[in-house]
Amino acid sequence: MSQAKIIDGKVVSTKVRQEVKEEVEKLNQQGINVGLAVVIVGKDPASRIYVNSKKKACAEIGIYSEEYALDESITEQELLTLVEKLNHDTKINGILVQSPLPKHINENRIVEAISPLKDVDAFHAQNVGKIMIGDFDFLPCTPSGCIDLIESTGTEISGKNCVVIGRSNIVGKPMAMLLLHKNGTVTICHSKTRNLAEVCRQADILVAAVGVPNLVKKDMVKQDAVVIDVGMNRLEDGSLCGDVDFEGVSQVASYITPVPGGVGPMTIATLMKNTVTAAKIQSR
Ligand code: NAP
Repeated sequence: MSQAKIIDGKVVSTKVRQEVKEEVEKLNQQGINVGLAVVIVGKDPASRIYVNSKKKACAEIGIYSEEYALDESITEQELLTLVEKLNHDTKINGILVQSPLPKHINENRIVEAISPLKDVDAFHAQNVGKIMIGDFDFLPCTPSGCIDLIESTGTEISGKNCVVIGRSNIVGKPMAMLLLHKNGTVTICHSKTRNLAEVCRQADILVAAVGVPNLVKKDMVKQDAVVIDVGMNRLEDGSLCGDVDFEGVSQVASYITPVPGGVGPMTIATLMKNTVTAAKIQSR
């Protein structure tokens, strides 16, 4: 029985981060500093881990970062005021508001208040529209990381059947769009898709971004497919698992990403890339 090769997100992301670090050094030599503001509201443990990883990446790469850790009770207006202040702060090139936000805050309103030039998550409608037409400044972080992982295997996306499971605004839809820009033939699946297994079996490249532990089983995967697992699911015992049954699917796929250590590190690496892009745009 064949065994899939593991796509190591730590190795691929280290390379990307090294390239970003060199760019930051070049910008610094031209007198341009790069800064990211990270805003976290409340005490969600997963958000805390993500924010810490992002700050750590900034420190390693030479990006200045500021953290705003706000109490759960902050009002929407107070948060909007902070975003507005950061929009005008010349030390800050990128603004990231960690989701989820408390229920009394309209997340969409906050995202739309971020200057599109500082929207390093690429969630602002203006940047989403630019991604749609294929003329964008900021890469959608997780999908772009997935493309890097696929290409790191030497797999040509052009002409391939690509199936994306999940249609969220932050992963599924932009993922499908990036694959389309790379000339993949793309199908998007979701909770209402009929015969999910049958659709998935057509995929040369299968991306799972669902949030259901081990949803994708061996019998849903074509022989030698490239499988990218975006899922990050916390099990009752505290361990992390993806949307793909790693053991089973490894027996049929040619390449597969592990969870953790696959897509996650790439999301952060792309965020760093975007922050540098933001600094460049703002220095023009
Ligand atoms: P989301 O907003 O909850 O979207 C999940 C999508 O999966 C929806 O489109 C939903 O369909 C679909 N879905 C749910 N159950 C399904 C089923 N049984 N069959 C087929 N489709 C189904 O989640 P998300 O924000 O996109 O995140 C997805 C996963 O990726 C989560 O585990 C999240 O933690 C992880 N994630 C990881 C990273 C990273 O950096 N590694 C970044 C972001 C997210 P409907 O639209 O019909 O409801």
